[in-house]
Amino acid sequence: MSRRDYYEVLGVGRDASDDDIKRAFRRKARELHPDVNPDDPNAEALFTEAAEAYEVLSDAESRGMYDRFGHEGVRGQGTNFTDFDSFQDLFAAFFGGERFGARGGARAGDDLGIAVDITFVESAQGVEREIEFDVVAPCETCGGSGAAPGAGLDRCPSCGGQGQVREVARGPFGQFLRTQVCSHCRGAGEIPAERCATCVGAGRQARSRTARVEIPAGISSGQQIRLVGRGHAGDRGAPAGDVYVQVDVAEDERFARHDLDVLTTIEVPATDAMVGTTVSVPTLDGEANIEIEPGTQHGDEVVLRGKGFPSLRGRGRGHQRVIMDVRVPRVDDEAGRRAVADLAGKLTDKNYRDGEGLFDRLKHAFR
Ligand SMILES: [Zn+2]
Ligand SMILES: [Zn+2]
Repeated sequence: MSRRDYYEVLGVGRDASDDDIKRAFRRKARELHPDVNPDDPNAEALFTEAAEAYEVLSDAESRGMYDRFGHEGVRGQGTNFTDFDSFQDLFAAFFGGERFGARGGARAGDDLGIAVDITFVESAQGVEREIEFDVVAPCETCGGSGAAPGAGLDRCPSCGGQGQVREVARGPFGQFLRTQVCSHCRGAGEIPAERCATCVGAGRQARSRTARVEIPAGISSGQQIRLVGRGHAGDRGAPAGDVYVQVDVAEDERFARHDLDVLTTIEVPATDAMVGTTVSVPTLDGEANIEIEPGTQHGDEVVLRGKGFPSLRGRGRGHQRVIMDVRVPRVDDEAGRRAVADLAGKLTDKNYRDGEGLFDRLKHAFR
């Protein structure tokens, strides 16, 4: 079966903002609401498709992978939307205030947020980091059952062994029937006859974990990377939550970032600006030599093409813009004055290029 393009599924352009994507998904959801389309397998299939598209495109990392490699790039990631018992359950996972649930109504694990600091240069080149965090994991003693070793299981008296109870809930699009996890047995349908001593029957305990995070080249401060299924354990039979790694990029006194471009200023003595010279400038890939043309003006730019940030979407790379900060020296001794006067006497209009004056530049700026 050939799969439709995710942007096409949501009816948005490839440059759609996060808000556009969210709005498009909500619009689809309203059209395909199970109360509007009861037992319509077509509506369910369309909603599943839209939900899948939304899950991929609403996350910066998976959207980048999808943009670069298509469906292949995000295969096996994220939620299996066909795992839901009913269309209502699937819908409730998005709009019923519940997380993505799983078969039997057991609750998925909670997400976890972690911040990682990287340098400015690392944000341009990409970097791997090992992170350490504590998660709630299945208890090692009882394997998550919550039962003491050898103890049997009794049927849960609250739900009669179903693990779930049905109730009417209100979502942003009206009332719908929601499957609620039984709070007594937490969805298992059974409760241990005798509790495990390690976890006191919870079936879970805190555990320290490490994970390697690949931070892609071009990431901006505040962007998040999602590690699917690495968060807190869920109820038995339900998926674990995700880990969201927030990347904080440190400032670098040599550089500033503007979209995909890197900005640098260099100080050029006016005497060098007059006759031209070669200077070394810092770039993301180390020092580079640039030519200062004779007659360089304050504010002139030298562009190092392709020396900027790579696009997270995998299309092209920005430039480095080196801005000249021409420093005019103070000359107040007699010998210096004579030398400058001597030079001035030799200069004619030909030494000044046309259209380089401040007024000309101001006019161009507002045109
Ligand atoms: Zn235990
Ligand atoms: Zn129960």
